[in-house]
Amino acid sequence: MSTQTADPIARYVTGHDFRMLIGGDLVAAADGATTETIDPSTGQVLTSVPCAGSDDVQRAFEAADRAQPGWEALGVDGRAEVFARYSEAIAGAKERLAMLDAVDGGMPYRAMLVDVEISRANLRDWPGLVRWHGGRTIPASPGNLHYTTSRPYGVVGKILAYNHPLMFAVTRILGALIAGNAVIIKPAPQVPLSALVLGELAREIFPPGVFNVLTGGAEVGDAIVTHPGIRRIGFTGSVATGLKIQQRAATTAVKHLSLELGGKNPMIVFPDADLDRAIDGAVNGMNFGVCAGQSCGSNSRTYVHRDIYDDFVGRVAERLEAMRVAPAYGDDVDMGPVVSSAHLEHVMGLVESGREQGARLVTGGGRANGSTPPDGYYVEPTLFADVDMGMDIGSKEIFGPVMSMAAWNEIDEVVAAANDTDLGLTAAVWTNDLHCAHRVADRLEAGYVWINDSARHYWGTPFGGVKNSGLGREESTEEYDSYMVQKTVHTVMREPRLS
Ligand code: NAD
Repeated sequence: MSTQTADPIARYVTGHDFRMLIGGDLVAAADGATTETIDPSTGQVLTSVPCAGSDDVQRAFEAADRAQPGWEALGVDGRAEVFARYSEAIAGAKERLAMLDAVDGGMPYRAMLVDVEISRANLRDWPGLVRWHGGRTIPASPGNLHYTTSRPYGVVGKILAYNHPLMFAVTRILGALIAGNAVIIKPAPQVPLSALVLGELAREIFPPGVFNVLTGGAEVGDAIVTHPGIRRIGFTGSVATGLKIQQRAATTAVKHLSLELGGKNPMIVFPDADLDRAIDGAVNGMNFGVCAGQSCGSNSRTYVHRDIYDDFVGRVAERLEAMRVAPAYGDDVDMGPVVSSAHLEHVMGLVESGREQGARLVTGGGRANGSTPPDGYYVEPTLFADVDMGMDIGSKEIFGPVMSMAAWNEIDEVVAAANDTDLGLTAAVWTNDLHCAHRVADRLEAGYVWINDSARHYWGTPFGGVKNSGLGREESTEEYDSYMVQKTVHTVMREPRLS
């Protein structure tokens, strides 16, 4: 191991006993099972973590169920105080948390520091967003009072994807918590470490049982999904798993699911767009520097008007060629590795299919080498041009640092091409003609559309997909409402008794 890699691992991983948080206790799996986690920057085993089973899910459920009424009784203000203390604890562990995501997930340390700050901003903002967000009164009959009110579900299960380990483990549960639910979170098996450390921090701050962390893979995920007492499941991950979860959840109870799934997101560039900004948008929108393109919102299909196409392709290629691909915890890194050897194979297989199916490889296309450790999972930032979006690289979610570009001539054609997919998460339109921008935005089948922007989430506005990209909305009052069950109360008024 090089000195550069040894330092953060020795400081934050080696010798640390990573344990799950159940009912306020830091515990091993009930049956003692463990699983290894790997550093994608080197391909070396980092450490072992508990691998939970259905007994652990039952324990976590019972603890959460016991704790939830007290948590609900605190009210938004009481819960806000807990959020504030949790935010302070996260600030105190900032470097450690960001570095754990870098060593465990391969996401550059610098980018993970930003994820810590986003997490803290969300902890600050959720209470204010919902403090005065209430039900409705409805004039359903004359003289009477009809109103809606809401109550938390009780125990919520949250199953997470790997691409923003810490940020998802913090932010994706806040809507459920501020609504008064107790939660059980399961981070992705590739990146368990930061969530386990969050459990250690939360143990000192949350009432025991309100916040539980279980680690493991599909098996423990399935035990959460099928637990009859967990009626609200929030899931972030692939379409294939989302579909499976819909089926499995229905085997034990009627459940409310929200699904944040994959994307194959189009970006459409018009000839009048501000070219410098659009090129920035195309590159930044791929999230190379945050997670090597492993983002649900990446603009992996870029359609550029024929008049500016050659220039655009050339300038994006220059930007990609200038990126330094390196271990995620160094100072000198623009992009880290992808998360696992299995995912490296998936990405490289699709790159190979692009070559075979006749797309023009402009830059990249190989395993990044040179100064990177030989067993790390590095891919060169890759650009294919002249892509027929019916090819595998144009139609399948690559979830890696691979862009597909095509030229377009007619608006109707490019809108039809952009919509020609089962997915519909994000889309971007780049033009200075606002009439055109809004007309096109209206026609795009996506849940989140940027005009002259990309990648950025504007917190407080609903995020989520259409078609196979998902079900439900997050990052907004819509998310909060989705963690509550609504009740309608009718009060029939008599005539007043006059004295
Ligand atoms: P994945 O579906 O393989 O795994 C996601 C989570 O589900 C993991 O925690 C995994 O252990 C768990 N899981 C797997 N099988 C399960 C089962 N049968 N029952 C219950 N849980 C199960 O996804 P991934 O590879 O971790 O993440 C990549 C995918 O996530 C991409 O498709 C990406 O687009 C999507 N994603 C979507 C969003 C969004 O907000 N829409 C955000 C991030 C990632």
